[in-house]
Amino acid sequence: MTHTDRIPDLLARVDLDALVARHGGREARRTGGRTYFHCPGPGHDDRTPSFDTYQPANGGARRWACRSVCSRGGDAIDLVVWLTGCTKAQAIDQLASEEGMVERPSLVEPPSVAQWCALRGWGPWVASELGLTLVKDKFGRPRVRFPFRFEGGVPYHQDRAIDDAAKVRWLSPTGRQPIAYEAERLRIAHERGHVFILEGVTDVAAIVDVYSAPAAVGIPGVGAWRSSWAPSFKGLVVYVIGDNDEAGGKFRARVTADLQHDARSVCNVHVPKEFKDVADWRAARDPQDFDDELMAAVEAVAPGSVRMAG
Ligand SMILES: [Zn+2]
Repeated sequence: MTHTDRIPDLLARVDLDALVARHGGREARRTGGRTYFHCPGPGHDDRTPSFDTYQPANGGARRWACRSVCSRGGDAIDLVVWLTGCTKAQAIDQLASEEGMVERPSLVEPPSVAQWCALRGWGPWVASELGLTLVKDKFGRPRVRFPFRFEGGVPYHQDRAIDDAAKVRWLSPTGRQPIAYEAERLRIAHERGHVFILEGVTDVAAIVDVYSAPAAVGIPGVGAWRSSWAPSFKGLVVYVIGDNDEAGGKFRARVTADLQHDARSVCNVHVPKEFKDVADWRAARDPQDFDDELMAAVEAVAPGSVRMAG
């Protein structure tokens, strides 16, 4: 609804006499459908009183006029603009608010992070384990923040739109270099001897949903990968799982090539063709079936390989 659309409704609701009084007009008398006030106009020391409100002949909303030095008149909106110096739009907003006509951006509360996780089929522990929080972007729209935690700080983050139809689904801080997502899980990886390298934060979340303390890190796209990270994967059995698209292919190739020397072994685990990525795959399966299928996919490329702990 635009400002203009709601003007007739607004003017019909406003008690103009009360509005004049609120803005400093002192009521003198009521006669013949008119209410006379000592004019609240700036600089008008009105003893007469020469300001009145009246019902116009055309049947519209009540109007006011100062018939003396101010020589002005209008409706309730004009009065607020005149006496407060605000714009017409601001006067409409103020009056609408006073009349209880405030339009709320949305009557539906954004879901909590736990509810948002539940909509993706994830348990509530995903939000706490990954430290997910609800934030608002510069347009006031809610997003779920995935913090990239490292050594007690959060050097990077990605904010996912709550609304799946949002044009910009992910927002990241500009001018900052991404790090690996859940990089601190490399510690778990070195205890277990293996690590899963996934292509996105929701893929890691999907794995965190199914397994307890999984050794899984996320790389937010091939462009984020740094060859200099290779030594961090020294001695590990590495399972690389990229998305089922061209970018995913580049991601797998680049990571695999870079880890050849440092990792104990590197293999590409394939997401079934019908799914875009791990998160998509997980969303279509219950946890037990997903576990069976993922372990079968690992077994297919790395026979005799360890099962996920937990
Ligand atoms: Zn006046």
